Amino acid sequence: MTLIRPDLDALPSYVPGKAVPGAIKLSSNEVPLPPPPAVLAAIAEAAGRSNRYPDIAVVSLTERLAGRYGVAPERIAVGCGSVSLCQQLVQATCNAPTDEVVYAWRSFEAYPIVTQIGGAAARTVPLDAGYRHDLDAMAAAVTPHTRLVMVCSPNNPTGPAVHRGEFERFLAAVGPDVVVALDEAYHEYVTDPEAVDGTALLDAHPNLVVLRTFSKAYRLAALRVGYALTSPELALALRKVCSPFSISSVAQAGALAALDCADELLAGCAEIVSERVRVRDALLAAGLTVPETQANFVWVALGDRSAEFAAHCREQKVIVRPFDPDGVRVTVSTPAENDLFLAAATSFPR
Ligand SMILES: *Cc1c(COP(=O)(O)O)cnc(C)c1O
Repeated sequence: MTLIRPDLDALPSYVPGKAVPGAIKLSSNEVPLPPPPAVLAAIAEAAGRSNRYPDIAVVSLTERLAGRYGVAPERIAVGCGSVSLCQQLVQATCNAPTDEVVYAWRSFEAYPIVTQIGGAAARTVPLDAGYRHDLDAMAAAVTPHTRLVMVCSPNNPTGPAVHRGEFERFLAAVGPDVVVALDEAYHEYVTDPEAVDGTALLDAHPNLVVLRTFSKAYRLAALRVGYALTSPELALALRKVCSPFSISSVAQAGALAALDCADELLAGCAEIVSERVRVRDALLAAGLTVPETQANFVWVALGDRSAEFAAHCREQKVIVRPFDPDGVRVTVSTPAENDLFLAAATSFPR
């Protein structure tokens, strides 16, 4: 006799970035700066109305996003972080244990979790030798059981972005009867002109869902707001499976105010972009293997020395994220914090 469904025993648990007093935290891909003052003021103002339920339909934010992307509000679903939208995607597409979710591995650690919570089967496809999605192999992994494909660009944790041409070929190969989600959590950091921008492909592909978030470039990770841009049919399904009232008033107000500050927030991404080049070059010069990155983090391919490297950095009060036995993901931060990490990385005994 067990109270809990037995398959939960095998559920991978989400390992949070560790906080160590006095250490710098480069383990969760956050921006090291607080939200701008105008955003904090909007949050405080909304907090004053905490006795009231939030707008369950998230009307103002949805309309604002619709205007920003030039799409009808019916094509947007706001979620309690884009992780929640990943889970909603599984709930909206899968209802039998034989239903499959295809994703690359290694990729975002939430994908296996939401797949299993949703009672679906995972089918993973290895990244290629350059730590990139192997979209031909992913298309080949699609079977009549496949309900959802998750594509992460830039890929967390390895960094490269999917290119437009290969993604369009992938959509054509997969066809219109499987939902394809393109997780663009780090879109604001992308500078590669060949990188895919999912929003340009929405009109031609009603089965495409583009996921964006306020957690990274918009500096609101704690407020939990993400959104999906897709067809009206899929957006409606995502809203149906959304936990009621899960996007708080504070989150809705903060996200709206952050959009008002978009120019300032996006300008902050430029420094991260130049720093990621500097950090990667220094790591390459030290003889480490680091794929080209389009996000606000670098991947150090350390194999079975990943945990050891993370412990070494931790001794120097720098918290990074090991994914044993593949590599270590390190957030690109301010020049001073990046220098502390580089000092730790280059003193790693090898
Ligand atoms: C950080 C991240 C997200 C954002 O998740 P939220 O729930 O919006 O905070 C989504 N996808 C990937 C791949 C990420 O790295």
